[in-house]
Order: sequence, then C-alpha cells, then structure tokens
Amino acid sequence: MQRVRGAALLFVMFVLLPLGSSWAWNLTGHRWIALDALTVLPAPMKEALTPHASLLLAGLLEPDFNRVVSHKIPIVSLRGTPPPPRSEAADTFKRFAVDAEAMIRLGRGLDEVAFVLGQATHFVQDLNQPLHGAWGETRAEHHEVEDQMLYRSWRKNHTYRGFMLIKDYSCFAYSIAEKSSRHARTLFFDRQIERVTGLAWDQAVNDTASLWQSVFWRALGPERAWQVYGIPAPVGELGSGSLSASCEPSRPAG
Ligand SMILES: [Zn+2]
Repeated sequence: MQRVRGAALLFVMFVLLPLGSSWAWNLTGHRWIALDALTVLPAPMKEALTPHASLLLAGLLEPDFNRVVSHKIPIVSLRGTPPPPRSEAADTFKRFAVDAEAMIRLGRGLDEVAFVLGQATHFVQDLNQPLHGAWGETRAEHHEVEDQMLYRSWRKNHTYRGFMLIKDYSCFAYSIAEKSSRHARTLFFDRQIERVTGLAWDQAVNDTASLWQSVFWRALGPERAWQVYGIPAPVGELGSGSLSASCEPSRPAG
C-alpha cells in the first residue's frame, strides 16, 4: 500500500506536474536567465545571494508548479479570438515583491527571502517572453515556440545596463508586457525565434537584476543597501506609471 502511494506520488511529480509547467519560458530558460542575472550583481550582493541560489531557483520555478493565476498580461491579439479575462499577473508579482521587501525589513534569513524573491522573479521573466503579452495561440504552439527559446551566450553578446529602480511593481509588470508584446507577432507568425529570443533574454536578465536590487534597496534604504550589498545609486527608473494613472493599458481592441 505504502509503495503504491509512493509510486502514485512520483507519478504526479514527474509525469503530471511537468505537463502544466512550461506554459512560460521553460524551466531551463528561467534558471539560466536567473544565473546570468546573478553574474552582474554588485559583488557583495552576489556573494550574499549565491549560497541561497538553490532556494532562489526553487522559488523561481514554483509559480509554474503551483499555478494559481495566469502569467500573461494579454495585450496583442494573434488571431482575433475573444480576449481572456483580466490578468492577475501584475498583482501577484507585486505581492511577492512586497513580501520579499517586508521579510528583509524584518531581518528574516536570506534563504527565506531568496525563495519569495524567486517567485516574484518568475513573473518578470515570463512577461519578457513576448507570447505572454499576447493571446490566441494554442498551448501546443506556445510550447513549440518556447522550447526553442534558449539563449546560451548572453554574457558574450550583451551587457548589463545598470540598476534601474522599480518605482511601482505593478506598473513595471505592465510596462514589461507592453514592451515585449511588440515582438509577439514576429515571433509567432514569422518564427523569428533567434532574434526575438536574443532581445527578450537580454531584457529579462536586465530586469531580473534590477528587480533584485530594487527589492533590497527599497527595504533597506539607499545607505544600507550600499553598505551591506554594494547596491549603487540607480541609473534610472522603471514602472513609474507613465502609461496611465493605474499603469494598466486600456483593454486591447484585438
Ligand atoms: Zn510562468
């Protein structure tokens, strides 16, 4: 009996769960983008986070296993099908990021912080994948494109553009989707996979590094963020709400 239950659990873990798991960058993509982002952090921050990388990566993949909300912010219609209901991706992302800030302020261990920071990071990475700013593709088409979106040489071809401070997490989520969705049609209809992956991956690495620094910077304030983690003054701002008062673009027309 025990053995049967164990086998059933293994079946669920390795056969059923992965089916629902890659409606996003695939898991390897998420991991590699995060590892690229780790390399560009200020040295003290990298040293502090690296021992907790496995929890960071576990948190990063969690939203695809325990799927509660859509990870898309649909802006561009691919086929004229009716738009999906309002996405909760921006709210969920904001909740994780604010939770991570609160945990840092409360002095919780970096292992716990890393997991929640990873959960927030999932949304930043997903929204940079242009099909997450669009709707109308089938699940099979989504996977077919996405499984080809692995970029192996970010450090050779791209650079980190510096720490951008996120003013409002929810606005940031909308602005990522707004930007990435511009490539949804060339990615989907022209299958310009290599070109779009290069752009999306580069932006995802930069946004991931800015998210991590923003969370610590906002939790600790500029002085302590600099003293403890070497986080410099930001070179600019993200998600400052220039799209509209609520940051949410008006509903797409198709
Ligand atoms: Zn996802």
